[in-house]
Amino acid sequence: MATVREIVTILDTAYPQWLAEDWDAVGLTCGRLDAEVDTVLLAVDPLPGVVDEAIACGAQLIVTHHPLFLRGVHDVAFTNAKGEVVTRCIENHIALFSAHTNADHACPGVSDALAEALGLGDLRPLVPDARDSSRGTGRVGSLAAPMTLEAFGLHVATVLPATAHGVRIAGDLDSQVRTVAVCGGAGDSFLGAAASAADVYVTSDLRHHRAQDHLVDGGCALVDVAHWASEWPWLRQAASVIDGTVRTVVSTTPTDPWTAHLGSTS
Ligand SMILES: [Zn+2]
Repeated sequence: MATVREIVTILDTAYPQWLAEDWDAVGLTCGRLDAEVDTVLLAVDPLPGVVDEAIACGAQLIVTHHPLFLRGVHDVAFTNAKGEVVTRCIENHIALFSAHTNADHACPGVSDALAEALGLGDLRPLVPDARDSSRGTGRVGSLAAPMTLEAFGLHVATVLPATAHGVRIAGDLDSQVRTVAVCGGAGDSFLGAAASAADVYVTSDLRHHRAQDHLVDGGCALVDVAHWASEWPWLRQAASVIDGTVRTVVSTTPTDPWTAHLGSTS
């Protein structure tokens, strides 16, 4: 039996909070540091359904990638989903902790987990940190052998958890890809870095104009996956950090907001 403090210390060592962006709000959201923990549930989003999962699996600590709160809060009443999460966590003696942009910037971090899931080797940061070039945002790596963009898209769909969003591809499906840039989560602000660094860029939340401008300017092919799916591989990485100290359960409930994808032409 460990304590919340011990688990938080291990996670803070792997994903130091000082690596988080200034606007972020990582760390413990609710719970007692001295509470005992034998089971930890790991999930991407702190939604009410994830609290249900924590109760069902007997977890005393939920570790999420996304923080519950990022803006000013004036109540945690059981009148909205965020208040429900806090209230039910406290009622059920469950602590809630998040590692967000600190896990994005850590090495290994969220994009390493995505890159490893895709089978990429020789990883380097897509956008190196100005203070430490071994760290940074996103990763660039190589597939063991080249494949067509279409085959690569199918590979992505196979290794990441299935979602209604699916896998969207932009580019010549017959082109060969070997060097792959990845960024877990919303990665369209790094399109410029990916444009010439790789044959294809895998990320999520790509928007019409940015994707279009990137492509018409000769940028690399794009593979757009569900935000949840792009960050989900990190849950196993984070679980491995605390495995052995506690029992870990990785949530497999898709918390991506989309529930159906209709009308695709292929
Ligand atoms: Zn995210």
